[in-house]
Amino acid sequence: MKILVLNCGSSSLKYQLIDMETENVLAKGLCERIGIEGSRLKHQPAGKEAVIFDDYQENHSVSVKMVLDALTNPEYGVVKSMKEINAVGHRVVHGGEYFANSVIITPEVIEAIEKCCDLAPLHNPANLIGIHACEEIMPGVPQVAVFDTAFHQTMPERAYMYALPYEYYEKYKVRRYGFHGTSHRFVSEEAAKMMDRPYDQTKTITCHLGNGGSVCAVRNGKSIDTTMGFTPLEGLVMGTRAGDVDVAAVTYIMKKENLTVDEMDNILNKKSGVLGISGVSSDFRDIEEAAEHGNDRAETALDVFAYKVAKRIGAYAAAMNGVDAIVFTAGLGENSGTTRRAICDYLGFLGVHIDSYNNSLRGKALEISATDSRVRVFVIPTNEELVIARDTKELLDK
Ligand code: AMP
Repeated sequence: MKILVLNCGSSSLKYQLIDMETENVLAKGLCERIGIEGSRLKHQPAGKEAVIFDDYQENHSVSVKMVLDALTNPEYGVVKSMKEINAVGHRVVHGGEYFANSVIITPEVIEAIEKCCDLAPLHNPANLIGIHACEEIMPGVPQVAVFDTAFHQTMPERAYMYALPYEYYEKYKVRRYGFHGTSHRFVSEEAAKMMDRPYDQTKTITCHLGNGGSVCAVRNGKSIDTTMGFTPLEGLVMGTRAGDVDVAAVTYIMKKENLTVDEMDNILNKKSGVLGISGVSSDFRDIEEAAEHGNDRAETALDVFAYKVAKRIGAYAAAMNGVDAIVFTAGLGENSGTTRRAICDYLGFLGVHIDSYNNSLRGKALEISATDSRVRVFVIPTNEELVIARDTKELLDK
């Protein structure tokens, strides 16, 4: 069985074609600048040189068609015909309270995803465009939706309710949802395997630290709390997102600077985070370099970042009444030994000890805790596409 995994953004489309017998990626690629001048498709067949196609991509339907052409191209392709693609798995950002699991896409599912567009106005409409494009170009091929929010639907009320007037929850569904669920689920399951323990008998804290970041408390295979909330803005300090801030500070700045709601929203999402504090960059590599060269604000940004992650780990150890494992994943979590070290240095009270040599390694799943550590610490590369493909296969097999 071969499954096409699609992740549609407003002007981009990422894809992977996965052979489910081996779980190998046959080809992957990215369409950029869809509907904008300068569109391009970078297609990467496994084990071969990448190819760039720079025909104009007027909309997502054109992009899906180009991806299928690339996948079936006699020279760069990896399958003979479209008929070899058995199903499509879509990443969908927001499933609201409708979806606690992945589902086969039906007209009712599309209707529910549409109802969640208000909650994720940048993402869900793009995901729907991708779904409709596939329906048009690959009629009859089953499609599955895998939601970023689904894994966190097991959060209890005490973790997801905001202390706002209850009517806003009833009227507008304002509550905490959490994101990166596919990643938290994958790495917590992998950690259980690495500990050789049943997934439903483990307490794991997963730290997805990339450009966006969130920490999740996974007790017995279920998310019981996570740092992102109603939107991906809440929680940790991120590349350009502020994370938790006193809302009164926000209204104060708006008054002082005469800012509109949209302007403030842009500042909180695009100009804050480690970029805002350091003034250097949103990329941790640049900030780490600046800090090494004595830039005080860059150092502060890294310090604030690590402190916040560590505080959440402490909070989630309390929420679960213990922790067996801490997992680091995503761009920063997988690659920055200094960040992992800075976070773990706060966790001596939990008996966390890091092995410096293992912490300096990269590129594969490994344990970085020392033999005397009371909590095991892992670095596990995330693989959201594989989860989407697995869920798609499982639903089809049923
Ligand atoms: P992601 O959103 O998961 O793709 O993560 C992207 C972020 O990971 C980048 O913006 C960097 O800040 C960070 N990152 C990637 N590689 C490294 C590295 N070697 N050292 C530090 N940070 C890194």
